[in-house]
Amino acid sequence: MPELPEVETVRRQLAPHVEGREISAVRIDDPRWCAPQDAGEVEERLTGRRVESLARRGKHLILAVDDGQQLLMHLRMTGIILWEPEEGAPYERVRIFLDDEYAIAFCDPRRFGTGLLLPTAAERDAYLDARLGPEPLDSAAFTDDVLREVLRGRDAPVKGLLLDQAKIAGIGNIYADESLFRAGIHPARPGRLVKTTQIAPLRAGIVESLELGIASGGASIDDFRHLDGAQGSFQNDFLVHRRAGEPCPDCGHEITKLVVAGRGTYVCEVCQPPPRRLPRSAKPVKSKRNGPIQSDVKRR
Ligand SMILES: [Zn+2]
Repeated sequence: MPELPEVETVRRQLAPHVEGREISAVRIDDPRWCAPQDAGEVEERLTGRRVESLARRGKHLILAVDDGQQLLMHLRMTGIILWEPEEGAPYERVRIFLDDEYAIAFCDPRRFGTGLLLPTAAERDAYLDARLGPEPLDSAAFTDDVLREVLRGRDAPVKGLLLDQAKIAGIGNIYADESLFRAGIHPARPGRLVKTTQIAPLRAGIVESLELGIASGGASIDDFRHLDGAQGSFQNDFLVHRRAGEPCPDCGHEITKLVVAGRGTYVCEVCQPPPRRLPRSAKPVKSKRNGPIQSDVKRR
């Protein structure tokens, strides 16, 4: 699933192509993309508008047009955006024409990606702020104190807390594993047992992993592609993620795969010592948006 660095890669590539151009037509072939909004109405409301900016918040792309409307696009599992795609690109769901001359296509084999058209910037902010924590690359918004609050008193595993978009925006499975390895913290450690001295290294690990991911054009381990169909290269630089059986880059111990917070998780259990045992109070906790967060560790 595209995470912050992958979505930011798309934004950086796409923004110069779309900003300042007029939307000459919109064709929504798959009405599920914008449901429950009516596809015909979304097409109509965007047609003839000029694109003012393409921004990102968490894993959302935000296309703002000149009458204040905001199109929020989410790639979910397998969505990609192509620039100047051939007609009828594979898994095409939506096509937006610009200046009667150019086109972008939203392609998505599993069709979980979404488009949501909001009338104003204020409604955009209300929608996103209700769902997303701070941007981790905004150093004013994401401080050590903010991270400490995210973890404080929580029995849920630190990895599950990092994945919760309402706590911190944009981190998914890849960057959670890489950040925790950089900080030397076991992913199953309950949030409240992360030591005070580990907070700053964890925040630094998150920022570093995300910035390296962006610098590599994201990671293409599944469907993620650039605008021209090219792959990102961050998968070649993973320290632990998807490296089960390989030696840890720091100590040489074998990297193992666990399931933490319901997700395949990669860890060096020498560099990231496991919690001695889960505290008695650690029980599965319900997270409103991400389903149950498991506090147990299972070996595969
Ligand atoms: Zn190690």
